[in-house]
Amino acid sequence: MTQSPVSGKRLVTLIAGDGVGPEVVRAAQRVVEAAGAPIAWQGCEAGAEVFSRGLSSGVPHETIESIRQTRVVLKGPLETPVGFGEKSANVTLRKLFETYANVRPVREFPGVPTPYSGRGVDLVVVRENVEDLYAGIEHMQTPGVAQCLKLISRKGCEKIVRLAFELAIAEGRGRVHCATKANIMKLTEGLLKRTFEDLAPEYPGIAAEHIIVDNCAHQLVKRPEQFEVIVTSNMNGDILSDLTSGLIGGLGFAASANLGSEVAIFEAVHGSAPKYAGKDVINPTAMILSAAMMLRHLGESDAAEAMESAVVVTLEDGVHTRDVPGDRAPVSTTTFTDAVITNLGRRPASWRARDSKPLKLPQISSAPDFVKASSRRVVGVDVFVESARTAASLGKSLERLTAHAPLQLAMVSNRGTKVYRASGAMTDPIDHWRCRFVVRNPSATLEDRVLLALVDRIGERHRWMHIEKLNEFDGERGFTRAQGED
Ligand code: NAP
Repeated sequence: MTQSPVSGKRLVTLIAGDGVGPEVVRAAQRVVEAAGAPIAWQGCEAGAEVFSRGLSSGVPHETIESIRQTRVVLKGPLETPVGFGEKSANVTLRKLFETYANVRPVREFPGVPTPYSGRGVDLVVVRENVEDLYAGIEHMQTPGVAQCLKLISRKGCEKIVRLAFELAIAEGRGRVHCATKANIMKLTEGLLKRTFEDLAPEYPGIAAEHIIVDNCAHQLVKRPEQFEVIVTSNMNGDILSDLTSGLIGGLGFAASANLGSEVAIFEAVHGSAPKYAGKDVINPTAMILSAAMMLRHLGESDAAEAMESAVVVTLEDGVHTRDVPGDRAPVSTTTFTDAVITNLGRRPASWRARDSKPLKLPQISSAPDFVKASSRRVVGVDVFVESARTAASLGKSLERLTAHAPLQLAMVSNRGTKVYRASGAMTDPIDHWRCRFVVRNPSATLEDRVLLALVDRIGERHRWMHIEKLNEFDGERGFTRAQGED
């Protein structure tokens, strides 16, 4: 841990952020300091100002260096430009420092009326933070068709699943749900489900349940009190955790931690809320509670608990910002923060901090080839072709072109539905076809030069834009069938 050479305090990288960021970060900083936590701040830049200087990552070198040293960040929200060149600086930070888990707790607050008040909502969404569609690997494959790769790894699943179980143990929770869309995306979302089911027996004290993510959203609205910890993939977690923040009063109350083996970044779930920037009206609770999570991470649990209690006392007293409905007039961000500081040391009447142990981060092998197959075989290839022809015309042309090749056309699909040979599907085709070729002789070894010769041959007549090998690992098919393919 890095100490400030001047004060001997623990050094934390501080990013004020965009929009309302500086207001809520300042509020959190003031409360941390008033709580007496031994923290020194190293202010750094990221986000809009950096993009405007032409740095398309939005994260300057000095900020990266600071985080490499301090390993702990308190960060305001960063605006994501809507242009095509720039990446989200938030996602960049999470990925650069491999903070693979986004931990988003929500717990009902006294004094914050919601349709769920009195139901005892108290759960944590553990969102995978670096994989899935947020890897941001996108291509225009034809002028009118875009692709985003959904990459899910066994290693990534194992890290997040183990962390969810460890969190349940640390916080004395009895149940972990795994929310996936494995019923549709059997290999990607299915990998998270299978990993969860494989690892659950190692945590016998915790009930483990899989739930399909759409039903999870439904159940969260109907009966949120049934959930304790929900582990889920990046995109699903992004959406579910905004939903869960709505259960306790909105984004103004949702804190989060981005955790990795080396670095931890603490931030409110909300964004830069530009329409409120500079108006001193935004709710700083989410950011103050994120700072409290940071103090717990640093072992300063007394200061963390004092901050959490002071926030709850303030809300119990009926002091709130404009996002909270109620009879009393709302106060400004500054007045709310002042009240929290005044209330440091007071104990809430109807709320106790969760009795938790330090979170044990899972230790997982860093080997890139985390999973090794004892046997593997290439059994075919999907060649993706751009063509304005009909399915029948394209299919026949491909069959003619490859009549003497070691691979034969098995089917052509359009957006995942088999259209050649006709299966009776009533598709509205686009110019993007997946043409599946499989080995004629199943016992033959398929060498790369055979695949490349096939692609070359197809390229004589058609514009191909992507190829994908069809692998079998340990005798199991490593690819899905098309809709309508037998
Ligand atoms: P947002 O900034 O979270 O704001 C959406 C709405 O949530 C606000 O209009 C407001 O609702 C409410 N809200 C957010 N924070 C609040 C707070 N502290 N107190 C009270 N209410 C709060 O989402 P957005 O408008 O979609 O995104 C704006 C920018 O932020 C975008 O550039 C986005 O990319 C970025 N963003 C950054 C992060 C991050 O840095 N981690 C996260 C999300 C979004 P009402 O309008 O009902 O008052």
